Amino acid sequence: MSRVRQHNVMGAQWKPAANGGAPAMELDATSVFGSNVFTDEVAKELIDSAHYDQFKAALAAGEPIGLETANAIAAAMMDWAISKGATHYTHWFQPLTGKTAEKHDSFYEPSEGKAIAAFKGKDLIQAEPDASSFPSGGIRATFEARGYTAWDPTSPAFILENPNGATLCIPTAFVSWTGEALDTKIPLLRSMAALSNSAVSALQLFGDTETKHVFTTAGAEQEYFLIPEHYYYERPDLVTTGRTLFGAKPPKGHELDDHYFGSIPERVLACMMEFEYELAKVGVPIKTRHNEVAPAQYEVAPIFESSNLSADHQQLIMQTMQNVARKYGLVCLLHEKPFAGVNGSGKHNNWSMGTDMGSNLLNPGDNPHDNLQFLFFCTAVIAAVNKHQGLLRATIASAGNDHRLGANEAPPAIISVYLGDLLADIFEQIEKGAATTSKEGGILELGSPVLPPLPADAGDRNRTSPFAFTGNKFEFRALGSNQSISDPNTVLNTIVAESIDEMAGKLKAAVDGGASLEDALGPILTETYNASKRIVFNGDGYSEEWHAEAEQRGLLNLRTTPEALKQWLEPTTVETLGKYNVLSDRELHSRYDVYIEQYVIKVNIEAETAYDIAKSMLLPAAIRYLGEVKAAAPQLAGSIETLVNEFDAAITKLETANLDENHPTDIIAEADYMRDGVLPAIEGVREVADKLERVVADDLWPLPKYSEMLFVK
Ligand code: ADP
Ligand code: MG
Repeated sequence: MSRVRQHNVMGAQWKPAANGGAPAMELDATSVFGSNVFTDEVAKELIDSAHYDQFKAALAAGEPIGLETANAIAAAMMDWAISKGATHYTHWFQPLTGKTAEKHDSFYEPSEGKAIAAFKGKDLIQAEPDASSFPSGGIRATFEARGYTAWDPTSPAFILENPNGATLCIPTAFVSWTGEALDTKIPLLRSMAALSNSAVSALQLFGDTETKHVFTTAGAEQEYFLIPEHYYYERPDLVTTGRTLFGAKPPKGHELDDHYFGSIPERVLACMMEFEYELAKVGVPIKTRHNEVAPAQYEVAPIFESSNLSADHQQLIMQTMQNVARKYGLVCLLHEKPFAGVNGSGKHNNWSMGTDMGSNLLNPGDNPHDNLQFLFFCTAVIAAVNKHQGLLRATIASAGNDHRLGANEAPPAIISVYLGDLLADIFEQIEKGAATTSKEGGILELGSPVLPPLPADAGDRNRTSPFAFTGNKFEFRALGSNQSISDPNTVLNTIVAESIDEMAGKLKAAVDGGASLEDALGPILTETYNASKRIVFNGDGYSEEWHAEAEQRGLLNLRTTPEALKQWLEPTTVETLGKYNVLSDRELHSRYDVYIEQYVIKVNIEAETAYDIAKSMLLPAAIRYLGEVKAAAPQLAGSIETLVNEFDAAITKLETANLDENHPTDIIAEADYMRDGVLPAIEGVREVADKLERVVADDLWPLPKYSEMLFVK
């Protein structure tokens, strides 16, 4: 039997409940949801009321939690965790790797020959992992390596189960001992506070004196691939880099459009059900699942939550999908472009602002007053995105995402805002600042409160826009599938806070000067919208014409990561993020350093992996085949020999391009060099390899092919 068929049969094998039984999925959802979360109800039940009240009061006031209260909470948390089978606890945090980090400590300490459980308030509040092992950019070089994790009481602790035990995870922030952020949570929390302040003050101008707090909300739709693990482990490129560096286009791709929203293969659905079940236990509210465009590609979406919780949960979603997939003989691929020539994976970050009174500030509402307020906040978002388009682009820049952005499948690298026809029409009228007729035929007069109700579904959908208004939220569609959602949300929150403040400042001045709210607001909306409207684009973001037009409009088109990352250091970035105490100049520089280094390292790993595979797996296979052909059918050997020679030359070119001595020493120049010198050399090797894949005897070709990986289910 040929190698290939045997492998395919193995790749396709799975049994329901293969690994010692499926979870008790028949339990009703309400009893499972949050069962492994130290929720507020659990806290209230298990902590004595005096300490519980102190805890809540401190949280509400944003004050530190006293040690005694912390001791009481820790004791309750430990008892609860042990009753759920936990033996260890960990501070769970998000360093600048884009992933989560954990270091487990046992609850148990030896005492007089036996073990007693001990977990104190100080263990809950603070820990000290060795910061020098995490990326910190300049901050580590200049200061001591010390770093602390600090409990984030706004994201509840949860228990992660393992077949052999369980661990209590305490969401924490990660700071240097000088108080600088070494993670993605701290700036996110800071940005949420900034936006809350700005939005609450603005709401007061609209007569809302009840709202005390505004939360930013996020709901991220996650795309991913599932392929049989059998193939994954045969592909050193997938294992090492997350994407296939080789692989010819299969005879069938997604041309038939038979995958999108198609029926979900049984094994895949079983896997989805189990990871959703696991996520339910830790309180992640998964809502939607479906097939995506590419074969073997799927999507999962949770219900939105406050940004901080959503960012934590996003990490849990990615981690849980990867863990559970293995139980089904599958591997979950989160790379932005695991398969060349096949649709890649992104993440849509749905974003809005909600008040503690329960209203969504981006909901157009259906009375004139809500409309005014909605138009104010909506305009603020448009202005913020226009001013900081480059920074938003920087928050989604990565080596992986470069394969999508700008290519003809994902949103382009140009940031623009899609409003939809109806909203666009209303803003066109705002632009003119005069009373006109709305599309529905109602009267839209900005100088008076007789605004027509805005449609709840403000227009059609547009899949090509990177930043689209979708009814009652904006959807930032250009995130990479693999990334943490923290940076994009941090930036969004901060830039919108700034723009709310600017507009609210003008509004207040006009109202203080005696104008009515309605009279004052009209000109401010007109002025702000006019200054920002170049960012609004309702057409096809993939088209060539848009690229030309965007350039005319002066919009940035930052095609690659090295260009985009520079936006973290632009004066407007430093000023805005500094003004709101979200990221200081030093913190921004350290982030830039970390991100640019990650880019260089990633491309370098790809280059080394491509070289190894080409030189030690593919070239030998091609030579063996050439030998066989020369022996048996020499008249056919000519074209194969030409390809083999071309391949050898391309491999040598890659080797030379990635020689250490050919890399510039300056990291910024090196990033450009990786993009312009090394990536094309990797591509050059691939080009010939993919031709060889289609001629070399199938049983000699050492890598599973796209036609297998994407279609054996
Ligand atoms: P679509 O495919 O139309 O974008 P989905 O139902 O797949 O719609 O996803 C919508 C996402 O938007 C969900 O994750 C949902 O929780 C999120 N979402 C809805 N309302 C808000 C909001 N106010 N703030 C943030 N996210 C939201
Ligand atoms: Mg969407």
